[in-house]
Formats: sequence, C-alpha cells, structure tokens
Amino acid sequence: MFYHMTGLHIDTQFTCVCFYILFLSQYLCKKKLPTRTNRIYGIMLLVGGLNLAFDILTVYTITHLTTSHPLINRMAHQIFIGSLDVFIALLCYYVLSLIPRERPLTPRYIVLLMLPVALSLIAVLTGPLSYYNDGKYAYSWGFSANTVYLSIAIYLFLTFYYLLRYRLHIGSRIFVPISIAVGVEIAIALLQLRHPEWLISSLGITLILGFIYVSLANPGEYTEKQTGCLGRYAFQIMLDEKLRFDDTFYVISIFLDNQNFIINTFGHRMSDQMLGRLAKTLEKTMAVPIYHTRSRCLSAICSGSAEAVRIQTDALAALLDQSIQVEHTSLHAQTRIYAIAAPQFFKTPDAFEAIQDHLALQSPNVNPDHQPVLFYGEAEAKALKRRVDIQTLLQKAVMKQDFHVVYQPIYNTHTQTIQSAEALVRLNDTQTLGFISPEEFIPIAEHLGLIEDIGRFVFQEVCAFSHKNDLPNKGIAFMEINLSVIQCMNPNLTAELKAIMDTYHLDPGYFNLEITETAATLDSPFIDKNITALKALGCHFSMDDYGTGYSNLARMTETPYTIIKLDKSLIWPYFNHGTYTQESKRSRVILPSTVAMVNDLGASIVAEGVETKAMVKSLAAMGVDYLQGYYFSRPVPDLEFLEFLDTFIKQFT
Ligand code: C2E
Ligand code: CA
Ligand code: CA
Repeated sequence: MFYHMTGLHIDTQFTCVCFYILFLSQYLCKKKLPTRTNRIYGIMLLVGGLNLAFDILTVYTITHLTTSHPLINRMAHQIFIGSLDVFIALLCYYVLSLIPRERPLTPRYIVLLMLPVALSLIAVLTGPLSYYNDGKYAYSWGFSANTVYLSIAIYLFLTFYYLLRYRLHIGSRIFVPISIAVGVEIAIALLQLRHPEWLISSLGITLILGFIYVSLANPGEYTEKQTGCLGRYAFQIMLDEKLRFDDTFYVISIFLDNQNFIINTFGHRMSDQMLGRLAKTLEKTMAVPIYHTRSRCLSAICSGSAEAVRIQTDALAALLDQSIQVEHTSLHAQTRIYAIAAPQFFKTPDAFEAIQDHLALQSPNVNPDHQPVLFYGEAEAKALKRRVDIQTLLQKAVMKQDFHVVYQPIYNTHTQTIQSAEALVRLNDTQTLGFISPEEFIPIAEHLGLIEDIGRFVFQEVCAFSHKNDLPNKGIAFMEINLSVIQCMNPNLTAELKAIMDTYHLDPGYFNLEITETAATLDSPFIDKNITALKALGCHFSMDDYGTGYSNLARMTETPYTIIKLDKSLIWPYFNHGTYTQESKRSRVILPSTVAMVNDLGASIVAEGVETKAMVKSLAAMGVDYLQGYYFSRPVPDLEFLEFLDTFIKQFT
C-alpha cells in the first residue's frame, strides 16, 4: 500500500529533491575510485532520482484520476514502487559489497539474492494494481504493491543482518552511518504502515543516499600529495575488490629502476613530478587508473586475456621508451614491466605484496632479451617460494642461533705465511632446502631485519674462537669480518662490538671490518659515525668487492681503508688465457694498474678467488699483498682451520 495525501501536498518531496541534487552534484564532482561500492552508489543515485520524480508524478496522477490517462497513472505507479524496491535491493547489495573477501560473492549467491526483487518486479509489471482516493488519502494497493512491500521487508532484514554480522570487518567509519540509514528506513517503513498519511518514502531514500555519501572515502585518503598519484591504499581497496569479484585479471607493475638515480641527481621534487606525469600519461594510454603501489613502482589492474594484456603493455613499453619533460630537463625512465595473473599467482593482497617485494629486488638486467613485458610465471613463482622458504628458515635459525662460522685463510705474499682469515657465516640447516649460500640468504636477512642478529652472532663466534685458541699469538695478525650496510647504520654498533671485544680481551686492532663500496658511499650520518668511532678504537676497515660497483676513488682515499679487496670478477678475466676475450684483454690493463694505484695510495690489497699456483705467482709479482682463495683453502669450520694453520708450513713451503 502506497499512500498519498490528496491535493498535491508534496513539500517533503521537494525538500528531498533539493537534498538529492546536493548529493548528486557532490558525487559527480568528487574524484572517486571505480570501486564496486562507488558504482552501486551511482546506480542508487539514479534509481533514487527516478523514484523521487515518479513519487511526485504519482501524487499528481492519483489526485487527477479522472483527467489523467489510466495507463499513464498505472505506469507512473509501477515505476514509483518498482524503483523503490530496486533501491532497497541495491542498498542490500551495497552492504554485501562491503563485507570481507573471506566470503566471496559467488554469481549463484548474487542470483539468489536478486530473486525477490526480480519476482516482485514481474508482479509489478503484470499484477493488478488498484487506486484508492477518498478525498483524504490516496494510495495504490493490490497484489503488486504487496509483493513490493514483502520484497522490501526481506531486503531490509538481510541488510540489517549483514551489517551486524560483518560489523567488525566493515569498520565503524562505514558501519555507523549505514546502520543509521538502515535503521531509519526500517522505522520509516513501519511508520508508513501505522500512519499512511505521512509522506515519508522519499525521505527514506534521501536519508539513505545522504548517510552513504557521508561514509564514502574522502579522495584525499587515497591520493598522494607529492605525486598526485593514487597511492597504495587506493590500490589495496581495488585489488581486494577485484580478488573478491573477478574471475581472472592481471596486475601490470612497472618498476622504475633508475628512480634512485633521478632522486640523487635531480632531487625528490623532480622525481615526484616525473612519477605524477608518467602516471597520467599511462592512465590515458591504458584507460585504467594507475597506482603508485610502492616506491619506484606504478601498477594498473587490467581485465582481459593474456593476449589483450600483451597488446596493451606493448603500447606501454613504446610509451616508456620516450623521455618525459619535467621542468627543463628530459628524464628517461628505465623500466621493467611485469604482468602478474590473478588468481593464478596470488589470491590475497598480501600474496601480491610478497610478489612485488620479490620483483622489486630483481636485478634491472633480468630482461636481457628486452621483452616489452615479462609475464610472471612458474619460474618466478618457484623463486619466490624458495625465497619465502628461506625467510621461514632464517627466522627459525635466528631464534635458535642455528648458524656457524667458517674461516678462509688469507696468505701474505711478502711473509709467505697465513696472516689472517675471513670469517664467513653458514646456515646449519642443510636438510630442509639444501645448502644455501650466504650470497642468497644475507640479502634476505637484511630485508627481514635479521642481519643485525646474525652479524652479532658472527662477531661473537669469531671472538670466542680467537680467544679460546689464542689466534693472535698463532700468527693470525687480523681477522676479516663482513659488516652489512644495515649493521653500519645501527647507532649502537660501535658500543656493541666494543663490549664483545672486551669480553674476550681482544685488541680492536685485531679486526678488519669488511664493508662494500656501496655501503661506504651511502650518505648516512650513522655509517660515518660508526666508521670514525671504530677507527678511533683501533679497528681497521677493508673495502670489499672492489670492482663490482661504481668504483668511487675519491671516497676510497677519503676513508682510509687498510685493505682493498679486489673482487674475483676483476681477477679471473686476467687469467682467462684460453678465451682471449675483450674482457680479458681489458683486464690485462685494468688489474695491474689498479694494483699499482692502490699501492700508491698506501693501502694493502687482497686478491680474492685465487684458485691456481699460476695466479699466486703472477699476483704476487704484480704487487698484491694478500691472496685468498680455494688454492689455499676453501672456507672451513674452526677446528679444520686450526689444523690447516698447523700443517700449512709443511704444505706450501
Ligand atoms: P665475500 O665477502 O666476497 O666472500 C667471499 C666469497 O667468495 C665467499 O663465499 C667465499 O667462499 C668465496 N670464495 C673464496 N675463495 C674462492 C675461490 O677461490 N673461488 C670461488 N669460486 N669462490 C671463492 P661465501 O662464503 O658463499 O659468501 C658469499 C658472500 O656472503 C660474501 O661474499 C659476503 O658478501 C656474504 N657473507 C658471508 N658471510 C657473511 C657475514 O658473516 N656477514 C655478512 N654481512 N655477509 C656475509
Ligand atoms: Ca667479504
Ligand atoms: Ca669479497
């Protein structure tokens, strides 16, 4: 039964129309994410508007039954009550779209849910509808109207049920206004039954639209101020929704590998502008929103087949090949583009995050064939699984201190004795995943924040071993210990190391701390402070892996290293006589001149990866002070190292 007061009293409706226009205009002007809830709200606005318009029209036709055409009167009533029904069903669907992904909305469930509204709409279209007008009230009644009333009751009940059941997942910011809206609508429905003379159905619609509008996310919440891009939060909302509702889709992630270089060279402002500009251009080309999903990475969510995605990303790659004009500089983004299929490779936002972490760490040179787009596949998934397994293993190992230290002797070419050793860490567990090189697990430990515990363990072990066996008096003048850049950034590093040295009564001069070139060139005040403080104590520093990064000669002279360790990659090509490659030709020039230069700077040299007698002879003749490599010994456990020291004289002299 839908009542109207006779005599065209439509003040409430007009007030509602005014508010309606306010919500509609705000909704249209606001920048919004293309989320399902936003889309449903858009449809609710449309249906609500239709209902308001026909509410007013029916007041006219029912009060002018004699003059208005019966068909028009019937149609106006049909649209009025039908749209009210659809509106309340949409409200229910809106609330359902807010619930968590653990409860996926299957197509079957949606069909079942839409059944009451579908049936009642059929009843509205085909069923009898009568009109009553006694001069005081006017209303439509009959089978059609009753089915609509029943359908509305079902949806209001369901909406209330879903709201209460999932209130914790929905969150109070959304739960409170929407519950108020639903509560008000239930009250209005009951009041209508009791007081047919009150014209409040339009009030219910406007209030619902208003309360939902209040609960909508503020665009500021998901747009980044600096870049103007949609941020991580916006992406998470969209991804979460896509995973809940869509069968298959792709996330295209564009990693900007030279962004750090751009920040260092041109500053953050230019880099932000470049990112914003890039995102806008990509948005235009791909016709989907672009999100800044993590530092140095832009992502888009694309539906469609692998082939469609390939076509889209090919266009993207061509676009990224061009430079971007920012202020008066043209910048060029060096990119890797990945297409990651869902739900094949990830089913939750967290799983996607893990994939992104993994891809971000890949080398920029991962794409030697210059494919426009790299499809994330089984091989990458396997590598990620191994990474996750190593993470779990490392977490356990750190808890149980399940590591040990091996020692690789270092030979002095002048005294022809073993004068030092490098301490290298090993994971004890070789059962679960087989042997894992520190080259593989150290970066993962750094990423997980476990490297400090491992570093402390290694330092402690070396000290305990050296003290117990009195190594300083057995010809071991110093011990090489690797320090990760993360350790160097710890403000307590110096105090911690000093405490351990003191416990074992070891002189700071006994320690040569190996840091990589990159660590030394990082602009961190703590690194500088630690190096200065440890030097003041008497510790020495070795520059590790010289020749692998950008060799910063200025820095090398600035922070006086006692030792420069030449990386294998600098040594091996020199001895590569068999294949007289361009590389070996170049190294015939580079290696001797590097050795001469380091000698002139007054630092000692260690050559790593010495595997043959010929290498020993040649490097010693060149002026290299220390040699380390399999020719003398592989890295060995402590007792074996002691045995090695004892037998060395017999073996090599
Ligand atoms: P690194 O500091 O450059 O260590 C030298 C690596 O070269 C060692 O690998 C060693 O076993 C290997 N090596 C030595 N001589 C030869 C040779 O003649 N031929 C060949 N083919 N290889 C040789 P390892 O022990 O697997 O360590 C790998 C890397 O892991 C190290 O490179 C270092 O960066 C890191 N690492 C190892 N232990 C620690 C540690 O306690 N703390 C930190 N922060 N990093 C560590
Ligand atoms: Ca080292
Ligand atoms: Ca090294």
